[in-house]
Amino acid sequence: MVHEMRDITIIGGGPTGLFGLFYAGMRGASAQIVDALPDPGGQLTALYPEKLIFDVGGFPRVLAKDLVKSLAEQAAQFKGPFHGNQRVIGLEEAHGHFELITDTDRFPTRAIVIAGGIGAFAPRKLPQPCAAPWEGKGIAYQVGDPAVYTGKHVVIIGGGDSAFDWADQLSARAASITLVHRSDRFRAHAATVSAVQAAAASGKTAIHTFHELADVIATDGVMTGVELKEIKAKTTRQVKADHVLAMLGFVSDIGVLGGWGLSIANDEIAVNSEMHTGRAGIWAAGDITAYSGKLKLIATGFAEACTAVNQAVHWIYPAKKVNPGHSSNLAIFGQKDD
Ligand SMILES: Cc1cc2nc3c(=O)[nH]c(=O)nc-3n(C[C@H](O)[C@H](O)[C@H](O)COP(=O)(O)OP(=O)(O)OC[C@H]3O[C@@H](n4cnc5c(N)ncnc54)[C@H](O)[C@@H]3O)c2cc1C
Repeated sequence: MVHEMRDITIIGGGPTGLFGLFYAGMRGASAQIVDALPDPGGQLTALYPEKLIFDVGGFPRVLAKDLVKSLAEQAAQFKGPFHGNQRVIGLEEAHGHFELITDTDRFPTRAIVIAGGIGAFAPRKLPQPCAAPWEGKGIAYQVGDPAVYTGKHVVIIGGGDSAFDWADQLSARAASITLVHRSDRFRAHAATVSAVQAAAASGKTAIHTFHELADVIATDGVMTGVELKEIKAKTTRQVKADHVLAMLGFVSDIGVLGGWGLSIANDEIAVNSEMHTGRAGIWAAGDITAYSGKLKLIATGFAEACTAVNQAVHWIYPAKKVNPGHSSNLAIFGQKDD
């Protein structure tokens, strides 16, 4: 499918891209987001939807998923579409405009803002062959709605922040939590490790170090447990499991974004103070950018999106100033003048 021409296409619908979509609309530019993931929010949706964030201006504390909802609502005022499940794999430039190419679609656009974060990312899968048939039928790599785990036996595999955060957060609602890790070295925040270890000491949670998944146990096609193997002794044990959460981290890949004649190092795109990449018509913002003093934070991404979009708008329509003016004074919001 070939989509209609837009002024600005933003690659990536994380917090940076969503704020950029809003900003483009505020400047009167037609815009859209193209993202490899099905839903908006980038890392916030995929990696930590239930975590509280404390360092976004105006929110003393906000759940990551609620921040995404607010950003999407703010952007929706201007009706720029979010195209999910569209991983950009190519770029063509002809007749004075670009076309971004995905597996199925083409997105003609006058300018591009790359807000690709750490790249298109996917969960690291369990290596055991027994796991694949149960993916989506008991084995999951992300937590969606925590309510699903209420009263259930949950086995969590992993030794990092996600594994420990969810072991801690789900313990109040689950029937049992069993944390399984291949070693006794954990990469999670010390306070969370202590909380989970305290739950284990009181019998609410079980921790099995030097263990890995050996098999899935099922009755009538429904998962009821898993068999765990002790890596050194090769002994096995069975534990109840309605759900297995494999929290093994993510693999990310900036893929083609690195091959468009941009200056890339360590999967980051070098930009100047205008967020320009050096290639006419292409700006970048958010975690994917590199410059001296760069901070990879949501707040930084917001400011960079604002700069990139305003520069792009001026480049497409030279009569429009780079400086957007104050939103509190814009006619587009029904305020007194432009
Ligand atoms: C556990 C955790 C906790 C954090 N806590 C905080 C915090 O408290 N405060 C804070 O400020 N920051 C925090 N961060 C960092 C913050 O999440 C990032 O700075 C922020 O997500 C960057 O936003 P972004 O939009 O630039 O990139 P991302 O959120 O990474 O979004 C990039 C998007 O681009 C898409 N994409 C990439 N390549 C392609 C492609 N080829 N085609 C299509 N789409 C593509 C991806 O699918 C993704 O949706 C935390 C990060 C983690 C992992």
